Amino acid sequence: MDHKFIPLSVPNLKGKELEYVTHAVKTEWVSTGGPYVNEFEGRIAEYVKSNGAVSCQNGTSGLHLALLACGVKKEDEVIVPTLTFIAAVNPVKYIGAEPVFMDCDDSLTMDAEKLLEFCRNECSFIDGKLINNRTKKHIKGIIVVHVFGNMADMEKIMTIAEQFHLEVIEDATEAIGTYYIEGRYTGKYAGTIGNVGVYSFNGNKIITTGGGGMIVSDDVKLLKKARHLSTQAKSDELYYTHDEIGYNYRMTNLQAAVGLAQLEQLEGFIYMKTINYELYKEKIDKIHGLSLLPFKDNIRSNHWFYALKCEDYYPMNRDEIIKYLSLKGIQSRPIWGLISEQKPYADCQTYKIKKAKYFWEHIVNIPCSANLIKEDLLYIVECLKEPC
Ligand SMILES: *Cc1c(COP(=O)(O)O)cnc(C)c1O
Repeated sequence: MDHKFIPLSVPNLKGKELEYVTHAVKTEWVSTGGPYVNEFEGRIAEYVKSNGAVSCQNGTSGLHLALLACGVKKEDEVIVPTLTFIAAVNPVKYIGAEPVFMDCDDSLTMDAEKLLEFCRNECSFIDGKLINNRTKKHIKGIIVVHVFGNMADMEKIMTIAEQFHLEVIEDATEAIGTYYIEGRYTGKYAGTIGNVGVYSFNGNKIITTGGGGMIVSDDVKLLKKARHLSTQAKSDELYYTHDEIGYNYRMTNLQAAVGLAQLEQLEGFIYMKTINYELYKEKIDKIHGLSLLPFKDNIRSNHWFYALKCEDYYPMNRDEIIKYLSLKGIQSRPIWGLISEQKPYADCQTYKIKKAKYFWEHIVNIPCSANLIKEDLLYIVECLKEPC
């Protein structure tokens, strides 16, 4: 390796993180009871303009609570994407419900055309419920993932959801800060359009709390339910009375302290990621056989992750690119293996999965940290040019 290591995505903790965490430690509020937790919830709700927010341990637990708060039960089915991180789908199984896998479109998010086709042709709408013809089960909702900070086609998806009475759970774990700048949802943030949305503050996300998550919604009752479930479903604080099975999912004050400092820098991170994306795109699109997948024109994207698409006529295939970049000190990775092909999901129903397979074979994620410097970015581009 003749160059320093350039990581794929690392956090940037140069704001007030240490100051706030120090305060949390000095005041000895380290667990779920401290003031930063409430403040962080309030600030997130304010930032994405939602009616409220409920903190949790991570995005996965947030999705679990979101499904429960939407009333998904073990006898139900939920439509999910096959091309995403498996944490978007596992919570369906935590409840004992069944996923039905959908394909993606060219933006890597759920194909709304195929979704409509599936609801119309493979299901029946009976007594206000969408029933899967194959299994006779009630399809209760959809999990929509805003992949890499892009926005799924929420106009079409919400229209379908309204028509077939489906709950919409937005997995916006990768997309905090993305919002519509045109159309029916102008000004609406990813995560605030469906019934409920979930953000993640894992270490590789655009802002981090080490591990953490947040549920947002305009539905105050739903938020109340999620909050209740996140704190062991305690109905009486003093006497330890519990009215259902709850979870220990609430965020700690230490996590929230970091989150608050991170949120203060979010717009700055988005600015840097956007500049870097545009520079990459300008350079990479000129290389024969390579391109950077676009973000949609009708949104302000947070530009979280960059997806390099390699055509079959580029001198190297996906795996060769990853190996080659690694020798040059550059970390990259393929996108997720399709969930419907993973062992625990191999027997689940799928609907016309095609594009997801293509993208799985042709996409490589390249370094995208907010603190990626121009010199390193240009070095990465030079390395990609070399084999041509
Ligand atoms: C990161 C991520 C999650 C899970 O978030 P955690 O905070 O790591 O539990 C879920 N879905 C998608 C699409 C993600 O990228």
